[in-house]
Amino acid sequence: MKIRLAAPLQSDSVVDGFGVRTVIWTQGCSHNCPFCQNPQTHDFLGGVEYDIEEIKEELNNLENQDGITLSGGDPLFQIDAVLEIVKHAKSINLNIWCYTGFTYEEVLEMGSNNKKYLEFLKYLDVLVDGKFLNEKKDLHLLFRGSSNQRLIDVPKTLKYNKIVLLPESDGIMEKFKREDKIYI
Ligand code: SF4
Repeated sequence: MKIRLAAPLQSDSVVDGFGVRTVIWTQGCSHNCPFCQNPQTHDFLGGVEYDIEEIKEELNNLENQDGITLSGGDPLFQIDAVLEIVKHAKSINLNIWCYTGFTYEEVLEMGSNNKKYLEFLKYLDVLVDGKFLNEKKDLHLLFRGSSNQRLIDVPKTLKYNKIVLLPESDGIMEKFKREDKIYI
């Protein structure tokens, strides 16, 4: 199986979720959010195709990373491939965040036609959902650009069958402490 990426895997990011993360920049997005910061990732035929096995191997060789973040583009336009990636990432204990222009509710709807979307959610720790809306842009928000976007705690949301947001208080940092350092 192949996946189209906008760039090679990028390790050591501290701005794409809690901790030190490796970002997987997927290629392809049709949400067309005005003022999108990554317009070069929109073309579904752009970027470079990678074999999924190659990506898995790269994940196996990561060092000092807390997790991966799927971003783009919109990872959900390549659901078969990203499902394979999150399955593997979870099997090697990587924490998983995903950014999407779809809302959580839209992902559930998509799941009624294609169960892979629902399966995908089960592997996520956090889904950052919704389009970037310039009129709701707020530079003080944590890990997202506009206030309509939510940091969704996916395991709890699935457990309680209602949207549970990640608390943005200092307490959340405890969860991401590794050894004697806090990576934020
Ligand atoms: S979903 Fe993301 S990549 Fe797609 S247009 Fe919106 S901001 Fe850009």
